Amino acid sequence: MECRRCGAVLRKEGDFCPKCYKEVLEEEELKKDVVPLLTVKRKYKPGFHVRQRWDVIVITILTVLSCITAGHIFVGILSGIVGFAILLAYMAFQKMLAAKEKVVFYEKKVVKYSKVPFFGSTKEVAYKDIKDITYYQQTWRQKRANMGDIVVYVKYTGYFGGIKLDNVENGTEVIQEIIEKVPIRVEE
Ligand SMILES: [Zn+2]
Repeated sequence: MECRRCGAVLRKEGDFCPKCYKEVLEEEELKKDVVPLLTVKRKYKPGFHVRQRWDVIVITILTVLSCITAGHIFVGILSGIVGFAILLAYMAFQKMLAAKEKVVFYEKKVVKYSKVPFFGSTKEVAYKDIKDITYYQQTWRQKRANMGDIVVYVKYTGYFGGIKLDNVENGTEVIQEIIEKVPIRVEE
């Protein structure tokens, strides 16, 4: 007889070896955990997102100006329209992400829901596997807009198996709320 999960030879009658049986029980417990304690959402902040795409704005303005200076009025107008369209598409994408992505903290697990069309996913991490939770502000633009990323790190090393939610507003307060409302105990 073999373990249905890892294939180890079983000495006693049963479906799983002791190690896998413990895992199965833990997974069952996690599935039952469905009452949300805290929800953190991605934020859409138009001014912030426009400034994030300053490169598109600068390139568009320079292109339009140089076209007009060179007498190519039509190409200049066209470039302006293209640049503006890229910016609008970027803004629409950010707005969509803000509406579709969230992280929910339960009693024993944290889950990231991403309901983006075609690329939807659900990522779940049990609290016992969490190494650390941080609020990360990469750029001064993020700092100025009071935006940043919430990152959940897992214990196992190697690839990043945690959860990351971008563009969260007031992250320091969010972290404080997590500490107050969610029973995560990060072991030192
Ligand atoms: Zn097993």
